[in-house]
Amino acid sequence: MNTQELNISKEIWEKDQAHLIHPYTNYKKFNTEGSVVYAKGEKHWIFDADGNKYLDGIAGLWCVNVGHGREDIAEIMAAEASKLAYYNTFEDATSIPAAELAAKLAEIAPENLNHVFFGTGGSMANDTAIKMAHYYFNLKGLPKKKKVISRDLAYHGSTFLAHTLTGIHSTHIGFDLVKDLVHYVSAPYTYRRPAELTEEEFCDFLIKELEDKINEVGADEIACFIAEPILGAGGVLVPPKGYHKRTWELCQKNDILYISDEVVTAFGRLGEMIASESIYDVKPDILVMAKGISSGYIPLGATMISDEIFEVISQPKEGNPYFSHGFTYSGHPLACAVGLKNIEIMENEHFCEHVQNLGPYFETQLASLSDLPIVGDIRGSKFMLCVECVKDKNTKEGFADEVTIAKRIYYHAKERGLIVRPLGSLLVLSPPLTFDKDAIDECVYILRESILASMEDLIREGIL
Ligand code: PMP
Repeated sequence: MNTQELNISKEIWEKDQAHLIHPYTNYKKFNTEGSVVYAKGEKHWIFDADGNKYLDGIAGLWCVNVGHGREDIAEIMAAEASKLAYYNTFEDATSIPAAELAAKLAEIAPENLNHVFFGTGGSMANDTAIKMAHYYFNLKGLPKKKKVISRDLAYHGSTFLAHTLTGIHSTHIGFDLVKDLVHYVSAPYTYRRPAELTEEEFCDFLIKELEDKINEVGADEIACFIAEPILGAGGVLVPPKGYHKRTWELCQKNDILYISDEVVTAFGRLGEMIASESIYDVKPDILVMAKGISSGYIPLGATMISDEIFEVISQPKEGNPYFSHGFTYSGHPLACAVGLKNIEIMENEHFCEHVQNLGPYFETQLASLSDLPIVGDIRGSKFMLCVECVKDKNTKEGFADEVTIAKRIYYHAKERGLIVRPLGSLLVLSPPLTFDKDAIDECVYILRESILASMEDLIREGIL
């Protein structure tokens, strides 16, 4: 660390505090704590502007799947920018990267999904998914089918519509939502299921609840059901066995489109390019992707629709000859070129196989933290994992919000060179897929030390 770097950090930090509006931020805390200025990334390490090195346990924000600092992606960006920085894809225009990436996604997606609409992120891709579902049913002569079923603790984004789909209700406070559109069913929160239910019975309970909700709202008024295979920001919630297949079958039975939000789970995090079909045996009607599609090197999102939906929405209709949906940056050539390169890297360097091989080791190593008195649950799958902290392991009683337990552990971990994502009482891990055994061992070691250090603080403060 040298003084010059420290000055850069301070100057940027001051400009940031004065002018940059940060997403999802507690301003009371932010105004006293300020920002960490991240300046450089390399594989699964990230460096701040003061030169401190951290293990990136969250891949930026569940997205830098192929790792930081890839020169080959930087080269593609430079080459594409100097060739054709931008042209639209409206009507009869296209570009080579946009067409190539669409074809590549059709190749890797489940076989019924062969048509893709591009945007710049997950929220936009989810907005597109809902608009597509509505448009489809309107054209089919079923204009009453409009409602959406989502789940408590689901995260689907932050635009007006995507925020309404999101079931983390604490994030809704102070904002308005799209009215009378979304109905929520319970989160598949297996750890916090009713105490009297086995996991199997909990699955039955959730399916019955969904069935009841469909009957209550009326299948003739429901357009779609939206679900993340593993709920991410809501707490890395892994539904009970059989849940996905059964929800999908229920949707099929009731002519409800199934939207799989794979913004986090696609592109290797669970060891498959697309998780829905390969892991959960579900064939979604609409598949939503972002983040890992470009490994975060450039904003990119994609909504894939089934052949059946495409057939309906692409037929010109009397009085409605136009598919009137699109963004300036739909199919941005530079973004699509990065997406293509990213997939090529994933395939050539066998990232999915790596996650399949090392995922169980990561799970087992993390599970070794279960002896710690404040670790209530360790869950997730492969490179999408989470530790839930509790005050009392037996009763599962959590810490009061003011304790900010995960944030405390986060600070201790950061001091020791690891970035995890603190969410309430949860520590989320979603590292770059370059994580190897050494990185996993270091990550778990630092987590243990940080949890122990936080426990000491809590004891000193009389909280534990
Ligand atoms: N869906 C899921 C499952 C997500 O995790 C996220 C972002 N964390 C989104 C949608 C929204 O994506 P974005 O922030 O790119 O709009």
